[in-house]
Amino acid sequence: MQWEVVIGLETHVQLSTQSKIFSGAPCHFGDAPNVHACYVDLALPGALPVLNHGAVERAIRFGLAIGAKVANHSVFDRKNYFYPDLPKGYQISQFELPIVLGGQLTFPVEPKTGEPYMKTINLTRAHLEEDAGKSVHGIVSGHSGIDLNRAGTPLLEIVTEPELRSAEEAVGYARALHALVVWLGISKGNMQEGNFRCDANVSVRPKGETKFGTRCEIKNLNSFRFLEEAINYEVQRQIEVIEDGGKIVQATRLYDPDKGETRQMRTKEDSMDYRYFPDPDLLPLEVSNEWIAKVKSEMPELPQEMRQRLMQEFGLSEYDAGILTGGRDIADYYVAVADAAADKKIAANWVMGEVAAALNQTEGLTFATAPVTPTLLAKLLGRIADGTISNKGARIVFQALWDGEGQDVDQLIDAKGLKQISDAGALEAIVDEVIAKNQKSVDEFRSGKEKALNALVGQCMKATKGKANPGQLNALLRKRIAG
Ligand code: ADP
Ligand code: MG
Repeated sequence: MQWEVVIGLETHVQLSTQSKIFSGAPCHFGDAPNVHACYVDLALPGALPVLNHGAVERAIRFGLAIGAKVANHSVFDRKNYFYPDLPKGYQISQFELPIVLGGQLTFPVEPKTGEPYMKTINLTRAHLEEDAGKSVHGIVSGHSGIDLNRAGTPLLEIVTEPELRSAEEAVGYARALHALVVWLGISKGNMQEGNFRCDANVSVRPKGETKFGTRCEIKNLNSFRFLEEAINYEVQRQIEVIEDGGKIVQATRLYDPDKGETRQMRTKEDSMDYRYFPDPDLLPLEVSNEWIAKVKSEMPELPQEMRQRLMQEFGLSEYDAGILTGGRDIADYYVAVADAAADKKIAANWVMGEVAAALNQTEGLTFATAPVTPTLLAKLLGRIADGTISNKGARIVFQALWDGEGQDVDQLIDAKGLKQISDAGALEAIVDEVIAKNQKSVDEFRSGKEKALNALVGQCMKATKGKANPGQLNALLRKRIAG
């Protein structure tokens, strides 16, 4: 049986406000327990929430960036449940009337097998809510404590339609969404600190079936790797259950990265169980068209706009432009190189190839702190363009720059003896010698076998220890053989 995977993601993005969504306590990670829990966060009797407009503004920004409808009227609801880290006994969220409706996101996907491609999916909604506190286990042996520093931190929960069809697509979406919220300046996106957490809803169905299968929801995946591993495990598990004649039970599951498996937490409650109702302590949220227009006028160029610009102005493919706009830092780096380089496509190849690979191998560096700065890379590309060095030579200089052997491109080219021989006289002598010694290849070329010329170019390269310009050699060989 061929199976189709169906995934919808719900992502909790922590918004980068100074203070909490309904109180003036600071949103600050890593401090002693409960130092940032004011009377609102502690749910003291009589304490009333006051909405933080910075959080609303960030939600509007997000809605505009994904081409969604930003609601003029939305409502905060109480989602009632008991948990020790939730002193009010309810979480303030938005249910029937969220602030952001619809929208789309386009992102690159790198499948395990086959060519990379671009995918566009629809978003359902995004709503504002508050985070809960945290239970802390074992600080005193055998006891648990509650830390309410995180209680009331503003979150934007972003929900997709069930349109993702593989773990790779889910990761492609999550990466692009992460890059977007950081790009927009609405979240710090710090994954270690839990600023970006995905719940993955996963189901499978026989290929060709139009009805969805029963889904399970894997909670709180806070890294792209865990997201991918958890989905792949869950897909296999569901297929096995069904193929063994069993049925999937709708449930909430947890991923255990050490064991590499998902485990059932509880069978899924329905939204009815939460007894949602509008919070009587908060007015409905009214967002005027003037406010939306003001946020719009302050928007930076968006990744998708920049992607279009790179395709149109620089002639890049959609996929390459997608990769190069996959984050603020790679985008800034690329534009700085491209502005100073003659060939924008070669610049793109180097940024996505050499630079990205070097960053992958160096812990703790980013495009913003790469030892080969855009200026240095542009200079190096200029030396390929003017024939001073070959591609191979340029890679050697690149590595030397990266390793801190020097800061001066021309000095490094000299020091490493990488300058190509461009003196026509010297090259001609070498070409003539190679022609004389390889009469067989010359005859083959003369009788129409184009490939024979490659062998001759190869011989010339050998004779010059790789320091000749292959293009120049090629032309010279043709000229000498013909004449
Ligand atoms: P709930 O109210 O239980 O959170 P929603 O209908 O809001 O459920 O859906 C939550 C998420 O689950 C959405 O991202 C949606 O796309 C996804 N989803 C819904 N049905 C399925 C399914 N059969 N398989 C996979 N994902 C699904
Ligand atoms: Mg939900």
